[in-house]
Amino acid sequence: RVRGTGVGGGHDEREQTLNQILSEMDGFSPQESVIILAATNRPDVLDPALIRPGRFDRRIILEQPHKKARKQILVIHSKEVPLSEDVDLDALAGMSVGFSGADLENLVNEAALIAGRENKDQVEMADFFEGIDKIRMGLEREDFISDEEKRMIAYHEAGHALMAKLVPTADPLQKVTIVPHGRALGLTEQIPDEDRHNLKKKYLLDRIAIMLGGRGSEKIVFDDVSTGAGNDLKQATQMARRMVCNWGMSEKLPFPLLDRGEPHPFLGKEMTEPKNFSEDTARMIDEEIRRIINEQDTRTEDLLTSNRDKLDLLAEALLEHEVLDAEEIEKLLEN
Ligand code: ZN
Repeated sequence: RVRGTGVGGGHDEREQTLNQILSEMDGFSPQESVIILAATNRPDVLDPALIRPGRFDRRIILEQPHKKARKQILVIHSKEVPLSEDVDLDALAGMSVGFSGADLENLVNEAALIAGRENKDQVEMADFFEGIDKIRMGLEREDFISDEEKRMIAYHEAGHALMAKLVPTADPLQKVTIVPHGRALGLTEQIPDEDRHNLKKKYLLDRIAIMLGGRGSEKIVFDDVSTGAGNDLKQATQMARRMVCNWGMSEKLPFPLLDRGEPHPFLGKEMTEPKNFSEDTARMIDEEIRRIINEQDTRTEDLLTSNRDKLDLLAEALLEHEVLDAEEIEKLLEN
C-alpha cells in the first residue's frame, strides 16, 4: 500500500518490506531476463512507486471466464481424462455460467471421481451434469443465478450499454456481459479515451446518465429496482459530489474551495474529514448533488423509454450470448 499512511511511519514493517522490494527490482541490469509477477486484489491502494515503468508496469486483469474461455479451460483440464463420446464440452461451457477457472478444473475432477466410483472406463456427460450440480450447491448462493434474475441483469446491463450508445460524449463501448465478475453480476465496459485528461462537464453528466442506465432500464421494464443498482447509484452520487465540491461545476457553488483532501489509501477511499464549511453550504451541496442526479435520471428514463425496441434487442441478445462485443452491439442496433 501507499507509504506514509499507517501507524509506525517509516519504521513500519510493511513499509520496509516495500522499500526492499523496490530497491531489489531496481537492481536488475537490462541484460538479465527476470520477470517478476505479483498479484493483488487491492490495486487501488498500491504505492505509485510500485507501478512505475521498470517495476510492475504491465497489468493483467483476471476476470471470470466467459463461455468461449470456459470451453478452452475445460479442454485443457480434460486432456488427461478419458472422455466418452457423448461429452459435449461446448454444452458444458454453456451450463457453467459463473464458474472460475478453478471451478472448471474442479468440475472435471468431480466428474472423473463420480465416474470412477461407478467403475466406468470413461467419463460420461451424465457424470459432468452431476459434477455441476455438486459444485453449484457447494457454491455460495450469490453465484447461482436463476432465469428471472438473469433477465433482470440482462436488462440492467442493456440499459447501461444503450445509454452509452445514446449520449453524445460517451467513451466507446467495448464489451457487455452478464457473466458475474467479482462482486458485480454483470458488466458494461467502455474504453476510456486515454488522451482525455481534462474532463468536461457534459462528459461527466453523460457518464452519470450511463451509470443510471441500469437502474432506469429495470424501472421501465420491471417497474421495480434491484439491489444490483446500488453500486451504480453510489458511483453516480460520488461523481456528482466531486463535480460540485472539487471541480466547481455547479452554478450555485462555482468555486471549488471544498476539496475534501486526498483519499486515504489505508482506510478506504472516502474518509470522514473535519468539515471546513458551514451547515448552510453543506445543505446547498446536498441539494446540488440531488439536482444533478435527478436531472440525469429523468433524462435516462426518457431516452430508454423512447428506445425501448433497442433495449429489448440488446437484452435478448445478452440472454442468448452472455457476452456482446462492440461490433455485435453495433450490428444489433443498426437494424
Ligand atoms: Zn449497473
